[in-house]
Amino acid sequence: MRVTFLGTGSAMPTGERFQTGLLLEDPDGEAAPLLVDCGSGVLHGLASSTVGYEGIETVLLTHHHLDHVSDLMALLKARWLAGETDIEIVGPEGTEALVDGLFAAHEYMDGRLDLSVREIGPGEHAVGGYGIDAVETVHSMYCLAYRFETDDAVFTFSADTEAIASVADLAEGSAVLAHDCSFPDGIDVDNHPTPSQLGAVLSGCDVGRVYLTHLYPHTDGRHEEMTDSVEKRFDGDVRVARDGLTVDLRRRDEG
Ligand SMILES: [Zn+2]
Ligand SMILES: [Zn+2]
Repeated sequence: MRVTFLGTGSAMPTGERFQTGLLLEDPDGEAAPLLVDCGSGVLHGLASSTVGYEGIETVLLTHHHLDHVSDLMALLKARWLAGETDIEIVGPEGTEALVDGLFAAHEYMDGRLDLSVREIGPGEHAVGGYGIDAVETVHSMYCLAYRFETDDAVFTFSADTEAIASVADLAEGSAVLAHDCSFPDGIDVDNHPTPSQLGAVLSGCDVGRVYLTHLYPHTDGRHEEMTDSVEKRFDGDVRVARDGLTVDLRRRDEG
């Protein structure tokens, strides 16, 4: 599996960080490219990837905050103009209402696409050729974290969440976990974790590498301090994600 961070920012994007979006590919397997979340800027990130927006037939949403869905309609329009009209949108409860509302607001798009929408809840599902497992997170809106599995790798994405044991359990055995780490330590925040909170919940967790993502501008200049803080409690490799970063994952050898 190959994971590309298209957007590692948040609802307050910076010049270096688009809002949230991840591109999953399965170069050695059968699964098609999968877009996970589609915040503002992600369409541009996708256009500069080798897959392009033409290559995305499935979009998986974690939740419906704007920084995760802003570019969704723009993606559909770009695909339509490129002659690619098949698309499936998968997401938590409320995804159908969101998509219906977007088409009601942009009526001229209605009937242009061969669109299907599927709502999923916690548990196991097949999405775009990936086996996924979902758990509900702790956030200001209903939100799902996802574990993705292919023949060669396991990857987990926390989506937006406080640091919670159920997401750490979901990530157990993953080669890579991309986790919300919106703010540095010292900021009093709900709905997102600080690095020390994240480190505490990941303590003892078997994950090869953690990428901190969903970064607010408050984290600028504090990345080293943030990774150090997580590593104080979590015995693994911790890095800060950046837009355009591609990570090749292989299933870790057991034992
Ligand atoms: Zn967000
Ligand atoms: Zn959110």
